[in-house]
Amino acid sequence: MCGIYGCCQRAKAAKSALCGLEKLEYRGYDSAGIAFLEGEKIEIIKSVGKVSNLKIKVGEKVSNIAIAHTRWATHGRATALNCHPHTSENFIIVHNGIIENFKELKSNISEKFYSETDSEVIAKLLEKNFDELSEISDINERILNSILKTQNQLIGSWAVILICRKNPLKIYAFKNKSPLIVARGKGENHVASDINAFEKREKNLLKYYNLNNRNIAEISQENIIFYDEKLNKIEIKEIKKQCEICQENCNYKHKMLKEINEIPKAIYSTKKHIKNSDFKKLSKKLKNYSKITIVGCGTAYHAGLYGKFILEKYLNKNVSVELASEFRYKTQIKEKNELVLAISQSGETADTLAAIEIARKNGAETAAITNVCGSSITRICDYVLQTRAGAEVAVAATKSYVCQILALYMLASSASGKRISRGIDKIANKTILSFSLENLKEFLGVKKFFFVGRLCDSATASEGALKLKEIAYVHSEGYSAGELKHGTLSLVDENSLVIAIITQSNILDKTLNAVHEVKARGAKVLIVSQFELAGEGKEILLPAAKEEIMPLISVIPLQLFAYHYSENNGLNPDMPRNLAKSVTVE
Ligand code: GLU
Repeated sequence: MCGIYGCCQRAKAAKSALCGLEKLEYRGYDSAGIAFLEGEKIEIIKSVGKVSNLKIKVGEKVSNIAIAHTRWATHGRATALNCHPHTSENFIIVHNGIIENFKELKSNISEKFYSETDSEVIAKLLEKNFDELSEISDINERILNSILKTQNQLIGSWAVILICRKNPLKIYAFKNKSPLIVARGKGENHVASDINAFEKREKNLLKYYNLNNRNIAEISQENIIFYDEKLNKIEIKEIKKQCEICQENCNYKHKMLKEINEIPKAIYSTKKHIKNSDFKKLSKKLKNYSKITIVGCGTAYHAGLYGKFILEKYLNKNVSVELASEFRYKTQIKEKNELVLAISQSGETADTLAAIEIARKNGAETAAITNVCGSSITRICDYVLQTRAGAEVAVAATKSYVCQILALYMLASSASGKRISRGIDKIANKTILSFSLENLKEFLGVKKFFFVGRLCDSATASEGALKLKEIAYVHSEGYSAGELKHGTLSLVDENSLVIAIITQSNILDKTLNAVHEVKARGAKVLIVSQFELAGEGKEILLPAAKEEIMPLISVIPLQLFAYHYSENNGLNPDMPRNLAKSVTVE
């Protein structure tokens, strides 16, 4: 789930692999490890905690081949023993993902296991298959056939890079459901789970390829060969690395703050580029679908809630929103002419990909809103709308959320023939510039938060609460303002802060009713609105804009508040505990 990196490069392989791991650090992890060829010997070094610890342990090494891993434990604690690479007699592997049938596979292998991980079984199974294929005299062919056989026995998700001691001048990579990208350079070739991992080597890398499920890549310093699931040599289409809005941290203390400040540019760029041919085709067809279902997880799900609001309003059509992790297991009711629209920043979210696969099996058309060009979701959906937020590396999504909402707004507007609002980027910029922590300092110690709103403001409330949970570790609830009195109001007291988002004039009074109810129970109140409501409580006054696009704007102070709350409490907002950036496991 976190990161893997492999490379074949004269003298510098270990160095590049460690540098790649550093670029993957943003995804969150608990331990790291590396295997590299030093002379004739393969060294394996593991370390719990930061990549910098591993770097110190490794030191300067001259090596032509290396594979490395940052782990986000799914099976077994974060200990040195469970840390990757995992080994058998001849195979050394790093793995992202989950092997669901690892227990069953283990029971058929006589070799002793030393770790609690599911991943170790891959190394052991490769060994078993390699033994059984001893009739193949060519070593390379024997390794490829062992991989093929192993992939056919595994169930689950995997991106694997391996070194085989019998042929240590090459690395091999294969995948199913977890991302894996190969980068071709001059006299050096690399492979990693995330295109951002290549950032430092960009100047030397010429082409990028996204492996399809069950493809195998055989990589040496000079060459890359791709194979399909039957071991036929194949060509893979090159993908373009998206241009970054701003690569360096500039003057920001954290990536998250930098990314919030990039929102105006992200809006501008998304607005300019999103209307590709898929967008045009989809917006033409949208009215004709008999059913539209939006699926997503976490922040993307909240964007989906906005999608329901805007599509229902502009198209006068029922739209449902489902958590992808639920959608994939619920009773599927087939309907003719259905659209399932999936939202995923990374385009690699395992639950969302699974939901799309199910929708396709049921005969639905599928569309994706994603920020990553060439990601898995773009390869399985009928229509792809790409947001241009630029690389987002802080775990908490900010600019990508705003762009997802923008994409939905633009899609609904085009489909219903409405004019798209101008200057949204400027309004966002104004919102960022006018945010002042000074007025909010009194709330930085509050431990109980309720975010409330109605209709699209309810989606913003859920997103505001999620930001605070993710990076500040405080309990916060996002609620539909009308729902408080049906239960949650019992939790509200003088230690609570209720943040009310009020951007829709037709329900202004109704949300204010909820504000009065919580004030009567002694709660502190903060209002986020473009209407002047300071008489009702402390207010963050937003610049006015068309009401339908206010959710792009009203979320910004909530993101900034969560950031400062986390920062003020001595936490690192970029790397919240227990979380990882793109959730590529179930
Ligand atoms: N499931 C494996 C483990 O727990 C890999 C986790 C990962 O993707 O980092 O070791």
